[in-house]
Amino acid sequence: MPEKTADEPHAKRRGWLRNLNPPGDFSTAPRCGARTRRGAPCGSPAVRGKKRCRMHGGRSTGPRTAAGLARIKQAHWKHGRFSAEAREEAAHFRELLRECKEIERLLVRELR
Ligand SMILES: [Zn+2]
Repeated sequence: MPEKTADEPHAKRRGWLRNLNPPGDFSTAPRCGARTRRGAPCGSPAVRGKKRCRMHGGRSTGPRTAAGLARIKQAHWKHGRFSAEAREEAAHFRELLRECKEIERLLVRELR
């Protein structure tokens, strides 16, 4: 049982809450940043140690099985323009273009 505080009804109380939750200002708790259907951040208190509230995946531990991981990877895949493969290919073509420009520059110089 918490200790009896001052007689004033709104006196500052100290110590643990009756439900054994830690004391503190709950209004300063980190807020959920998930986008709602209105486009604004959710704003509900985030699950402790997480960035999302209980309704937006804060309790989720993420995919665990190989099949689940593959499914999530596939669901997040948009077009592959920034995949390692696509970046490598783009770098290859840039290098080819650089070589072509160099050859062109040498040929133009030779013809003059
Ligand atoms: Zn939320």
